[in-house]
Order: sequence, then structure tokens, then C-alpha cells
Amino acid sequence: MTVALTPHQLLETHFGFREFLEGQEDVVNAIVEGHDALVIMPTGGGKSLCYQLPALALEGITVVISPLIALMKDQVDSLLEKKIPATFINSSLGQSEMNERIDAMVRGEYRLVYIAPERFKSERFVQALAPLSIALFAVDEAHCISQWGHDFRPDYIRLKWALKDLGQPQVMALTATATPEVREDIIEQLGLGKFGRQPPSVFVSGFARHNLTLGMTSAKGRAEKLARIVEFAHQLKTGIVYCATRKNVEKVAAHLKGEKIPCVAYHAGLTDDQRTKAQTKFMNGDCGVAVATNAFGMGIDRADLRFVIHYDIPGSIEAYYQEAGRAGRDGEPSRCEVLYNYADVRTQEFFIEGANPSRAVIANLYQVLRRLGSRGPIEMSIAEIAELVPATKNSMAVGSALYLLERANFIQREYRQGSRTYTTRLVDPIKPLDELPIDFVRLDKKHERDFAKLHRMIEYADHHGCRHHFILQYFGDTETGEGCTVCDNCLAKADSAARFPTDEETVAIQKALSCVARVDGRFGRGRIAQCLVGSRSKEVLDTGLDRLSTYGLLKDLGEDYVWGLLNTLIRTGCLAVSSGQYPTLSLTELGGDIMRKQQRIPMVLPEIKAKPRPSSRAKKVATTRRDEPADYDEKLFDALRAWRRDKATAMGNVPAYIIFPDRTLQELARVKPQSVAELLEVRGIGPAKARQFGKETLAMIKPFGKP
Ligand code: ADP
Repeated sequence: MTVALTPHQLLETHFGFREFLEGQEDVVNAIVEGHDALVIMPTGGGKSLCYQLPALALEGITVVISPLIALMKDQVDSLLEKKIPATFINSSLGQSEMNERIDAMVRGEYRLVYIAPERFKSERFVQALAPLSIALFAVDEAHCISQWGHDFRPDYIRLKWALKDLGQPQVMALTATATPEVREDIIEQLGLGKFGRQPPSVFVSGFARHNLTLGMTSAKGRAEKLARIVEFAHQLKTGIVYCATRKNVEKVAAHLKGEKIPCVAYHAGLTDDQRTKAQTKFMNGDCGVAVATNAFGMGIDRADLRFVIHYDIPGSIEAYYQEAGRAGRDGEPSRCEVLYNYADVRTQEFFIEGANPSRAVIANLYQVLRRLGSRGPIEMSIAEIAELVPATKNSMAVGSALYLLERANFIQREYRQGSRTYTTRLVDPIKPLDELPIDFVRLDKKHERDFAKLHRMIEYADHHGCRHHFILQYFGDTETGEGCTVCDNCLAKADSAARFPTDEETVAIQKALSCVARVDGRFGRGRIAQCLVGSRSKEVLDTGLDRLSTYGLLKDLGEDYVWGLLNTLIRTGCLAVSSGQYPTLSLTELGGDIMRKQQRIPMVLPEIKAKPRPSSRAKKVATTRRDEPADYDEKLFDALRAWRRDKATAMGNVPAYIIFPDRTLQELARVKPQSVAELLEVRGIGPAKARQFGKETLAMIKPFGKP
């Protein structure tokens, strides 16, 4: 029985991690102690562990609500590999399979069950769950419940009724979106801390992303934007270009193809099949660039993206940072840039108008529907209905108004897949508009707030101070990014502030350079920084960086400083960065001279803060897993990737990372296991994977011999 183990022990035994990432431990403790919790961490911050670990400590089942069908299966597979009994229930299952899983749940065969929110539409489903002993109800992507959020999903609203039917179990909500309104809304809607439970704990952490260079480029027109994208794609190879509209996706993708830059296009106008293919191709690494609307992203877990460009200004900071945050999840330097042209703001304004129909539009639509519906069901597309509504040209607004009328139970709609039309029926008895439960005051407020969010985004684009600082403040993260040295504004300011280093700084520079010299060309900036601040992370220990004489030498200066210093040394030409997917650092001739104090040059140095906090961030970098062994056999790695691609195709075009993620392949190419026992030592390979792919993997590795 696992109950007796402490969270730390559970972390090591079941998940193989030695330390918690920033914020995780506090969350886990709060949950185990029985508090409801709202957890706000950016994408990649390690939210899943915050419920997966308590699931092992709590008595009863943990239900996880997730809107991402593809991700659910991945999560369940990875839990099963760790021998944690788990399953999922979503629309990809047939009725009998679903019933079997529900029965197994009731028999207590799982610790975690992932459920898609739309399942709760069915009363029968909710009733079937009623006998369960639910220990924890974890709602992932919880911002989807809030109409103030950027990704409102009506199915999430049902969760509060489901919770009631399930006896109000302990609830935890997780999201990367953290504006105060969304936060309050989640707490309110899910009833966190209500029903006799203690006040909810709210955790905000981990928004700082030191490895992202944030920037903005003013672009007058399309040609300038496209030129910038081509430049990025040539230079940085892997990334996402986000566009506001499908039309722009098509245009950008066509241009890139014309420039012989392979890319996939992704937007909601494509068929499911086309979208899955595009996503798989991108996730497999068969294609380096994706051009997409915001429909692309939730669940994109490709760690090696070196850039995210926004072709059009996004509608809010949270939407922006969530998308930009998909760059550099492996911890290596990556670039995020908004291509800014004020005229594009109009597109976002149009979206806001579309999402927030005025009272006049709703009233006019109401009249039209009453007229059309008096003769029976209305078989028309939204665009066709919109044609008949006076005072609007925005069919999106009509779509939103239809949705409001549906929620107010004035109409019922059924979507017909093939023809992409709805059958709309009026519900009796027909009431005057004023009597419908539509909260116009609230709608007006939302309209205003959406505009306010867009204006914050415009402020960000126009901002002359530190962009990291701006974003951290926005999210209420207490870290300060000021003077980050990795945003365009700080860099520009810094360029005019070059000076000779003080004695103290000279010593720090020598230490940093000699650390790089000792591992010349084998590690990237992230690992060097970890080494200098004395991280105890698994990756540092595994690679032996803790045994270097330079290990921990800059501990007192803190991780922020060390990142800034390494950036400075790169900019001044003391360190060279290799090209390729996993850039590594090496000492240049100039760097060697500076290290030996044979030369002094002016440079722009980060500020030494009086007393760095006992860096929780040092811990964060220290414990993140986003690394790759830098010293692997590239030929073997390529051979393994080719094998994996064929295998993924043979398995019915599954995403390649389901077989082994890149990280595991690199580890294999580094340690070159020769037996099943050695294979099981490799991170990411459990008994299930060893059984399934072990023989083939070992056969692939054998000709390459031992390292
Ligand atoms: P999120 O849901 O916040 O986007 P995930 O839960 O997917 O993030 O976690 C991101 C990555 O971090 C995963 O690869 C996960 O295995 C890794 N991770 C989570 N917790 C830890 C930890 N304590 N130590 C090292 N890596 C971790």
C-alpha cells in the first residue's frame, strides 16, 4: 500500500524524479491535507504531477477532467508504464468499452481516470459514477469554465452540476491562465472551498522563462512579415507561426512552401483527418515549422521548438504567453516575437465584437428566429441566418447570439456534420426577450473586459521596459524579470551601457568561462548555468557536472545573474554557440584571453542583486527535465529516429513520441545499452516499453558497440 510513503518518496519511487519542480511540493501537500486548490502554472510547469502524485496518496479514485483527447491517452500510457493503474473515458470509445471501464472504476481498479468534459452531458453517465468514492476531482485547463478566459468551453459549465451529483468531492483546478477575473470565476464556478470545506489554496508559480528572448518587430505589411518569418525559419529551424485567421495561415504556409521551407498548416477549417496528420507530422519531427491558428497548441508537447512567431497581434497577454511559451520547453534559448502592425488590431476587435453580440443583435436575431421557426425546424447555416439579421454583418456575432439563446433555452440546435448546418428548433413556450435568462449586464462587462485585455496586449507591444517583467506582473507572479537581458528592450538598453567589469564581476566571468572550458562543446547554456549555481538535479548528477571544480561556484549570485552573464559572454564573443538542434557552448580565443586575464573588454553586465533569494528558480532550472545528453552518438540517434518513424507508420501513424520521445532516443544513443537490463536503466523505458520495443532497439544499437 502506497499510503504510508511521503510525497517525496512517492515522487522518487513512482515518477523517478528526485526533486519537485517549483511550486509542486506546496500544491501536493495542500491536496493531501484536504484543501481545494487552484494551481496556476505555465505550460510545461509540471501541473500533471500535482494531481497524479496525490492520487497515489489519497484513498479513492482521482478523476481528471481534460479537454484534450490525444493528451489523455499519452498521460494514461505514461502512468501505466509507471505501474499506476489509470484509464480514460472519452468519445473515442464505443459504448461497451466505456461501460467496461466504468464497471472497472466502480470495482476500484484505477487510481486515476481521465474524463472528457462532454461526457457529463449524459445524465446516465453521471449516475453511473455516483457510487464511486472520488477522492479528488482535478479539472485541467480549468480556464475553459470561464467566459472571461480565452478558451471558454460550454461543456465545462456542466462540471459544477456533476460535482453536485457526485457529492461535492475535493476539487483542484489547474490552468496556465491567471488573470484575476478568470481566477475568481474558476473558484466561484467550481465551488472551491465551499460546501463546508476549508478556504481554497491558490498557487501561482513558474511563469518566468529565462530561456525565451521576447521581442516585437514593427512590420509595415505582409512582405516584411513574411521576410522575417523566412529569416527565423532558416536560422532557427523549428517553431510555430501563429496567425489570427485561417486565411493568413494559408497565405503564410504557401509562402514558406514557395521558399522551400517545409511546413504544416493547421486550423479549424481543416477536416479532423487533415489536422491529425499535420499535428503528427509536426510532433514526429518530420516537419520543423507549423503555421497555425490558436486551434493548434493545447497539448503540443514538442520540446525543441526554437521560435514562436505571432504573425498577427494576439487578443490577450494570456493567449500570447501560452502560445509563446511553447518555445524552448527543453530549456534551451529560444525566441518569441510578435510581428506588429497596428492595423492588425482591427482583426482582434472584430473577434471581440463577434464573441460579444450586442443586445440589439440578440433582439433582432430573436425576432428572425421567431418568424422562421413558426413554420417548423430551421435548416440553415449560421451565415444564412446572419444574412437575415438587421444591424450586423458579423456572422460570428450571430453565432455567439445563437449560442446565448440556446443556453437561455429559447432554441435547441443539432449540428449536422456533413452539411455543416444546424437544425434549429424553437422551444415552447416562447417568452418575451426580457424574460429569457440572459444577463445583459454581465455580457456588457465581458465585452469591456475583452477590450481591456486587448489593450494590455497592445501596451505590451508598445512597451519600452522589460518584457519579462511586464508579463510576470500581469500574471501576479512575484518573480521580477527586470533587467532580464533576454528581451529586445533590455538588450537594446544594455547595448548602450557597456563598461569594464569590476573586480568582483571579473572573478565571476572567469569562473563562468572556465566552467565552459572544462566541458568545451558538450553542454548548452541551461546545463552550464545549472552547474554554476550548483543544482542537484538528476540531469546534472547523471552527467557528472557536479564533479567539476567549477560546480556551484556562482551559487551566491543566483540563477538570474548566471543566465544574464552567459548571455553577455555570448554576445561579446567570449563564448560560441554551436548551431543545430541542441546548441552547445564553447570557449573562443577571446574568451580564453579574458579567462586568463590577458585582455579586458567593456561589456553589458547584469546587475548583481544585493542578496539573491535562496533561488527557488535555481531549483526550477535545477529540476527541470528539459535536457538532452549533449554527447550522444548522432549517427545512432539518426538511425533510431528513422526506425521510430517507420514503426510509427506501421503502428497506424501514431505520433512518434508515443514510441520513444527524442530525449529517450538521445539517451539510448549515449549509453548504448547492450542488454534488456541496461535498457531498463534508460530514462523513459519501463518494462512495458522494453517488452514492446526492446528487442528491436537493442538490435539497432548493437552494431554501434559500447560507448
Ligand atoms: P503542464 O501540464 O504544466 O504543461 P506537465 O505536467 O506536462 O506540464 O509537465 C511538464 C514536464 O515536466 C513533463 O515532461 C514532466 O515529466 C516533467 N516534470 C514534472 N514534474 C517533474 C519533476 N518533479 N522533475 C522533473 N521533471 C518533471
